[in-house]
Amino acid sequence: MKSLADFDNQIHSCSKCGLCQSVCPIYKITGNDCTVSRGQFIMLRGVIKNKLKMSKTINRYLDLCLKCGACTKFCPSGIDVVDIVASAKAEYFKMSKLEKLISRFQKVFVFGLGVRVLKFLKQKHKSKNFDKKVVYFGGCKGEDASVIKLLNALNIEVITPDFDCCGIPFYVRGDFETFKDYMNKFFEKLQATGIREIVTTCASCEKTLKSYKKWSVNSDYEVKNVYEYIREKELKLTLKKAQKVTFHKPCNLSNFDDIRWILENTKNLEYVEMQDYEKCCGLNGITKIGEYKIFSELFKEKRANIIDSGAKVVLTACAGCEASLKLFSLGKYKVYDLTDFLTKGLKNE
Ligand code: SF4
Ligand code: SF4
Repeated sequence: MKSLADFDNQIHSCSKCGLCQSVCPIYKITGNDCTVSRGQFIMLRGVIKNKLKMSKTINRYLDLCLKCGACTKFCPSGIDVVDIVASAKAEYFKMSKLEKLISRFQKVFVFGLGVRVLKFLKQKHKSKNFDKKVVYFGGCKGEDASVIKLLNALNIEVITPDFDCCGIPFYVRGDFETFKDYMNKFFEKLQATGIREIVTTCASCEKTLKSYKKWSVNSDYEVKNVYEYIREKELKLTLKKAQKVTFHKPCNLSNFDDIRWILENTKNLEYVEMQDYEKCCGLNGITKIGEYKIFSELFKEKRANIIDSGAKVVLTACAGCEASLKLFSLGKYKVYDLTDFLTKGLKNE
């Protein structure tokens, strides 16, 4: 895992052009340069050069960053702010008892006990023999029987080694030790299967599993999301009942084209694109109670765009986005994970 000082050259390559300001959802609300890459890099350079001390105030700015990556796409120097902010968080993590306490709580109760209970409640599916075998990574939501059924329909056998969390909540908090624990456990379980192809339905899990290649010697594996398989095989689905939907694109989603193809080719499904469909949902703000004012602006805007689309259902493809959209829907629309919606979401409609 890289330290903040390892990013010195990258941070130095920031030309201060300010293009990141034009796309950063948080800067648009705060107007404060410390909440966008440019200002954060100036502060962090000060920390690296020992001119500034890592502090609660700097940590607050780091926490406001959504890690959405919108600035990276526009940055002429292509600076990846997510890894830099995580390495800066790791500096703060080392000196903060509170951060350690929260991380421990998350590990034991939220992503430990909570996920175990959820997985226990989910129905296990027995695989038959198929042409191809993949390993299914369900993440915090657990492995879903309906996803397995869908993959089976594509003639793919699915193995479920009972994985834990991908570790992304700990990476962005700067708790690199816990993140590495999750990564190592993942590889232990993967090696035991002898399979190198992994499928997931969550965009954030997909991105994190791919990112392991940066931090580990294990690199001979491939991660895909379930939508790539559907598109590859051109599987056309039919809903039981006509529905008008819109879609929120998670920041971490790599293949929106496949999803758009599915939305446009599923029978009985009318897809309408909402304004700013790819703007971050603001998930990062759920736990920042003290910053509610800033994040409530983001949630308000997203809610208005969903309502204006005229759809009563919003779909997404990331467990975090799903939770965030649900929490702030105020009962104005329903939120589903796209796979859940396609495979079983309409059963009780
Ligand atoms: S867009 Fe990139 S180079 Fe320009 S100010 Fe922002 S971080 Fe620096
Ligand atoms: S990652 Fe997103 S929230 Fe963070 S600085 Fe870049 S655009 Fe702003």
